[in-house]
Amino acid sequence: MKNFDIEDPITKLNQVSTKRGEALIANKIFTLKDLLYYFPRKHLDRSNITKIKDIQAGNKYNIVGRVETCGERKTRYKKLYQVIVSDGTGLLTLTWFNSSTHIKKLVKKDDQIAIHGKVDWYNGFSINHPEFDILDHQSNPMNTGSIIPIYPLSIDFKKVGIEQRLIRKLMIQIIDGVTDFDDIFSDNFLVSNALINIKDALSQLHFPSSSDNLSSAIYRLKFDEHFIQQMFLGLIKSKIKYTKSTIFKDIGPYFQKIRDDLSFELTNAQKKVIAEIHSDLKKSSPMNRLLQGDVGSGKTIVAILSSALAAGNNYQVAVMAPTEILASQHFNAFKKELSKARVTCCLLVGKMNKKDRDKIITNIKNGKITVVIGTHALIQKDVEFEKLRLVIIDEQHRFGVDQRNKLTNKGKNPHLLCMTATPIPRTLSITYMGDMDLSIIDELPKNRIPVTTKIIDSNRLGKVYSFMNNQIDDGLQCMIVYPLVEESEKSDLAAAVEMYNHLKKNTFSAHSVGLIHGKMNPEEKKTIMNRFKQNEIQIIISTTVIEVGIDVPNATVMLIEHAERFGLTQLHQLRGRVGRGKEKSYCILVNRGSSERSLSRLEIMEKMNDGFKIADEDLLLRGPGDYIGFQQSGFVKYKIANVLTDGPIIRKARAIAFKMIHKDPHLESHIGIKNLIFKKFRKNLDLINLN
Ligand code: ADP
Ligand code: MG
Repeated sequence: MKNFDIEDPITKLNQVSTKRGEALIANKIFTLKDLLYYFPRKHLDRSNITKIKDIQAGNKYNIVGRVETCGERKTRYKKLYQVIVSDGTGLLTLTWFNSSTHIKKLVKKDDQIAIHGKVDWYNGFSINHPEFDILDHQSNPMNTGSIIPIYPLSIDFKKVGIEQRLIRKLMIQIIDGVTDFDDIFSDNFLVSNALINIKDALSQLHFPSSSDNLSSAIYRLKFDEHFIQQMFLGLIKSKIKYTKSTIFKDIGPYFQKIRDDLSFELTNAQKKVIAEIHSDLKKSSPMNRLLQGDVGSGKTIVAILSSALAAGNNYQVAVMAPTEILASQHFNAFKKELSKARVTCCLLVGKMNKKDRDKIITNIKNGKITVVIGTHALIQKDVEFEKLRLVIIDEQHRFGVDQRNKLTNKGKNPHLLCMTATPIPRTLSITYMGDMDLSIIDELPKNRIPVTTKIIDSNRLGKVYSFMNNQIDDGLQCMIVYPLVEESEKSDLAAAVEMYNHLKKNTFSAHSVGLIHGKMNPEEKKTIMNRFKQNEIQIIISTTVIEVGIDVPNATVMLIEHAERFGLTQLHQLRGRVGRGKEKSYCILVNRGSSERSLSRLEIMEKMNDGFKIADEDLLLRGPGDYIGFQQSGFVKYKIANVLTDGPIIRKARAIAFKMIHKDPHLESHIGIKNLIFKKFRKNLDLINLN
């Protein structure tokens, strides 16, 4: 038997030819370790395989059988590829639409196949677009009686003979031949946290000896992924904790004045959040807080009162929003309140004439302006502050970390308050934003009338249009949103324009109709939005979620076309544009999808009004990958961890990581962990304090 180093190249293994080596490398598998961390997609075990005679339509199953026949079929509308599978107890039809050439290459007569999917009944049991794996004799637990890992296999792998069996043979060589499995955790640590060691975990994952052992292996490997992420976040937090910032000693004269003059009573949630922020501002390390609150929960006034605290201590504030419309809306809200206390504020956006801009820039620099509200324009080089000590970022997920840093770097370790109206499920926020402290406004202002949501088929649109006409006759306003799909942006825009012309000429000819879309420049958008706000335009048609956060209390109908194309959180955001005034509001979802699934998804919108619950549902349905902003956020991709279902593991990993940092802030006695952090987060080492 060969003796390997875990960092040896994969070409050292038997049966890895040049071609196979290339295919592996193309999949970023360079070393033996990389291959060991090529994890199975799932495990097949006799106990989780169901016989076809025992299945029922409507449920999901794992089924293993032999391909009896396969072939293409044409119906009137579609070309489809069908495979009939038998497991000796019954027959099951697998159907693929429009992907025949691809599937044809993968599935052949007499193949042993493992299938996973939801069973339907159309003249027999069938599954559309199942997940499947082709098995060889040794990967069929029905033959071997053991738990078998199923690896993801790309076509490129199959071309060079990298099949399930070969991968297993390679894994055996590695596990038998490698002696130096370095565990980042000590034996003591493993014992006291009920974790198995890394060698056992990896060998059990690839060759489980029982389902309990497999569970322990999966648990350990998930723990590792969450732990290292939490460690990194903990280190960021620790660096912030040891950074000196400015203490806001006083409450100052402005906070109380503005608060007492409000035309409404703050909700308890707002009061609680303001207290949390205030307590941060009194500390010597910078605040790093994320304020979450559903649309309309009243985050703006929290931001205004926080600014008043800064102003009361003679410091400057920068408030950054992702769009000009939002920035100028904020500016109006801030100005209204701040002027009561004679705190100076200004708006800084991209398109300004040079003279105005120069004057503003000068006054920011000399400290005459206390609160500056703006867009990305704030992070331009020549914008300098005299004493910026509080940075507020609205809709923070629309900004990258770099932009955020550019703004905070204009001050001396300023306090940072980020705000978001996208309710983020708890496990996600501690995974991706766990370096921040969290404040949640979980209560809407009183007297809000809940928005009624209704799903309709397109053939009911006529009725809806006349309802909208009636609303407008009553002095109210409406919005219509069309989705914009990236790939076909142009044609969708064309569709919206066409619709706009049509509705303007026919359906809503008695009223003024406006169009707003992403291709317009900010000036044009602003003009249209202002006219909508002034009720000079009664119906606005928009191609997409252009402006989050616009506040037009007189709008009572939100009609969303092709609602099935939106994520639930997006729909919830859009719905939040209405129901802001005294009148009863409606959100109409036009469902043009044909699937059962898209309908049941939309039904969640009819049932739920709570953004957090909707976010949870959305996450379950779509997975975190699609979740707003996280895809681009540059975080490590998990191999085995699942932020949806690993809540308890995440919390445990977090607690342990944070305790470790507390005891040993520079990880001096945890070299293995430290090195892993260096490797995994090499691009973000400036955020932490390790050397
Ligand atoms: P969001 O959290 O979506 O940013 P806003 O801050 O824009 O919400 O608030 C929405 C509306 O509710 C604004 O018109 C604001 O003046 C109003 N508002 C905020 N807090 C309260 C409150 N406690 N009672 C009544 N109205 C409030
Ligand atoms: Mg807002």
